[in-house]
Amino acid sequence: MNRILTRASVFGCLLSISIAPVYAQENYKEISKEDITKVYRANGNFYAVPDYSVSFPPKKRPKNIIVMIGDGMGLAQVYAGMTANGGRLFLDNFKNVGFARTHSGDNYVTDSAAGGTALSTGVKTKNDVIGLDINYDTLQNVRELAQQRGKATGVLSTSAITHATPASFLAHRKSRSYYEDIALDITNSGVDVFIGGGYKHFTKRADDKDLTVDLKKKGYQVLRTIEEVAAVKDGKVAGLLAPEHTDRLEKRGNILPVATKTAIDILSKDKDGFFLMVEGSQIDWGGHQNNVPYIVEEMTDFDRAIGVALEFAAKNKETLIIVTADHETGGLAIANGNLKNGTVNGLFPTGGHTAIPVPVFSFGPGANRLTGFMENTDIANIVKEFLNRK
Ligand code: ZN
Ligand code: MG
Repeated sequence: MNRILTRASVFGCLLSISIAPVYAQENYKEISKEDITKVYRANGNFYAVPDYSVSFPPKKRPKNIIVMIGDGMGLAQVYAGMTANGGRLFLDNFKNVGFARTHSGDNYVTDSAAGGTALSTGVKTKNDVIGLDINYDTLQNVRELAQQRGKATGVLSTSAITHATPASFLAHRKSRSYYEDIALDITNSGVDVFIGGGYKHFTKRADDKDLTVDLKKKGYQVLRTIEEVAAVKDGKVAGLLAPEHTDRLEKRGNILPVATKTAIDILSKDKDGFFLMVEGSQIDWGGHQNNVPYIVEEMTDFDRAIGVALEFAAKNKETLIIVTADHETGGLAIANGNLKNGTVNGLFPTGGHTAIPVPVFSFGPGANRLTGFMENTDIANIVKEFLNRK
């Protein structure tokens, strides 16, 4: 995705310069490009963040595990969101914090396929690879292990569900770009609830199959809108809310927090517990675009989904939530800001991913295990350990 978006934005700049040089200059006087993309202004428009102070016995093991991945979410992205919300995020409630190194099996700078696979399987693989090791041998992911242990499982994202991060918890393919093969893997995965975009990878395929027919045969409710998804109380759910990726926040609405609530309501009915992965997919795309408002919108939307999980976990007391990222994107530097009105000024040295370690926030029983400096693979290996122990 990064190359495509970077090229698209470079092309966009060239296009606007070559076609409309006069307008570009006039535009610059009225609204500078800096104002459009490098500054976010909340104008004091904040959402409330309650305190959830719950303590957990240090040796207690979680019954339910929720892994939440902010794609491209470094510490600066977190703090951009925090500043934009007047200094508060639901993430404030996570008192166990660490850092994860993200380098992949073949690259100092990971992509989302190798990053997702590290977080889902505990093994570093080559960039571009989904759920396979560097020799292309299949790796069991934590969702599959949870399923094997009798738990209900779910995967949610604001990208196509076939995109690298969710695919890492559902599929095993040599390349992240094999979307139709990934859709086939998802159809056969046994996952209870999946919600995201990617409808076309199930229905407009080179093999002419309509995988939604197969999904229905397997007992899934195949749904196309978040309203339909939100009305579901139990059973299997295939929420395919967009042909490919879901829109930016303004158009798509709060589908991620709503999907998170719905998925938790459904999955928590399983007496054996559940595993859920929730991705805030588009924080990464804001980074690729060097677009501060895009990052802030996606970061705070992701934080609201975190709030939904937190509200459940604080009451449930048997649920571990881990919030982390696959990598940082854009090398965002927060050059200035204002906590009173929620203004964030950002600068970027790159339109690609960076190698800087990402934060790891955790809440719930077992959270004390996820502190300090770690490898991204340690996260999945600790999750596996929890799933393997009674
Ligand atoms: Zn990216
Ligand atoms: Mg992603």
